[in-house]
Amino acid sequence: MEYKCSVCGDQVEGDLVVFTEHTEKHIIDEIKSTHPEWAGDNGVCVPCAEYFRKQLKGE
Ligand SMILES: [Zn+2]
Repeated sequence: MEYKCSVCGDQVEGDLVVFTEHTEKHIIDEIKSTHPEWAGDNGVCVPCAEYFRKQLKGE
């Protein structure tokens, strides 16, 4: 199954990461600040998820 990551636009195989509004709202907000058109339930690819998690940690 292939998905299109709506953040980086890459076609990715396998699973998208879908954030739970309740537990990861800060990540959702961070992504939306750079990608206003993105909706939380669109999900992102794994590298994007890792990237934004690191952004929030300031790494
Ligand atoms: Zn991506």
